[in-house]
Amino acid sequence: MILTSCAACAAPLGLSLGKKCGRCSTRYCGPACQKQHWDGGHKDVCKKIKKGGGAEQYHADKKTKEAVVVAVEACADDTKGQKCYICLEAVHPHTGEGLVRGCACGDRDGVSSPELGVAHVSCLARQAKIAVEEAEENSLGSAAFDERWARWYMCGLCEQTYHGVVRCALGWACWKTYLGRPETDTARQNALNRLAGGLCDANLHEDALPVQEAEVALLWRVNSGGIIVAQGNLAGTYHALGRLEEALKMKRDVYTASLKILGEECEGTLQRANSYAVCLTDLQHYEEARTLLRKTMPGARRVLGESHQLVLMMRCNYGVALYEDPAATLDDIREGVTTLKDVEQTARRMLGGSHPTVVEFERTMRDARAALRAREAQGEAQDAFRTARAKLAQERSQLPPTLADASARPSKEAPPRRETGDDSSLGA
Ligand SMILES: [Zn+2]
Ligand SMILES: [Zn+2]
Ligand SMILES: [Zn+2]
Ligand SMILES: [Zn+2]
Repeated sequence: MILTSCAACAAPLGLSLGKKCGRCSTRYCGPACQKQHWDGGHKDVCKKIKKGGGAEQYHADKKTKEAVVVAVEACADDTKGQKCYICLEAVHPHTGEGLVRGCACGDRDGVSSPELGVAHVSCLARQAKIAVEEAEENSLGSAAFDERWARWYMCGLCEQTYHGVVRCALGWACWKTYLGRPETDTARQNALNRLAGGLCDANLHEDALPVQEAEVALLWRVNSGGIIVAQGNLAGTYHALGRLEEALKMKRDVYTASLKILGEECEGTLQRANSYAVCLTDLQHYEEARTLLRKTMPGARRVLGESHQLVLMMRCNYGVALYEDPAATLDDIREGVTTLKDVEQTARRMLGGSHPTVVEFERTMRDARAALRAREAQGEAQDAFRTARAKLAQERSQLPPTLADASARPSKEAPPRRETGDDSSLGA
């Protein structure tokens, strides 16, 4: 469906929110909007919409008519005095619509042929519909189907694609033809794509947006995430090739879309969050990676359980984002190591010691421990340094003020002379 907002207040409803008119399926955000819409005139058209096939079909039919009017107007000069090459009439015998031309017929090769390619949108649509039916009824296979499907976007005479408002009108005609089919139907999926393309070509981007969103949502549902799997795979390849910025951008898009369409507790969404977080860590956006994981881990633990591999992965990556961060405190690093140790033990119990995931966790934990030891050693050195400095300051405070000042601000003329503290000239 492309009617994804409230008919009264235009609030976005996505695919499942809100209420529907029991008769005609017009959608609302809630009872208040439905009542207001009903009193405001829906009661006079509800039956008509129902008779017209319900809200979605009625809307598509109406939009098709409007788009045809726009296209005919735009083509008026170009088609003046001509006839439709399909039905051979100037005015369409059933719909009363005028003529269009939106391909490359008419003035190709520097030769003006004003009669070529002039047609009614309805006639072009009918031709395309029949061609597709032929392929479907005879099960001609996908290549033949695609070839016939081309009638929806390519002129059969000049073999150039339709453009602008003509393409838009055909897009609507295409969508209205197939929208009643099941979501898994190829023609219906293609039709959404046609419509979106037509709207974009006519610069109606605001109208194209809900159609494209519906298209993406549809592909995700019916292809069981095929589109996202494909995109995720591509992002993984970018990542693997070291094209991290590209991978990051794609992973973020995929995660955001997944969040919006599938929700935050869907396993696929959690997986994408984790993959995005890994990329953030690899690009040293540690804080962002930790924030993302802190936000998503509780849901993952609740939905998937403590011992689920994805949950373990997320916790492992959280540990990495802690200990690898150069800005991490000693406590952060210790928390990272503790997390990794726990993850490794749980994974070992669940999967056995030779499982590659466990081997990977083990390696990560070793690295984290090494980082901790290094930092602790550094901390000890720093502590020793601080102690020595404090001692020095104390000694200095016991000196006469002028001497103490000179030693505190060493200069080339008066080099510091108290490096070792046993210079006899300083006395006691
Ligand atoms: Zn509303
Ligand atoms: Zn209604
Ligand atoms: Zn015609
Ligand atoms: Zn043409």
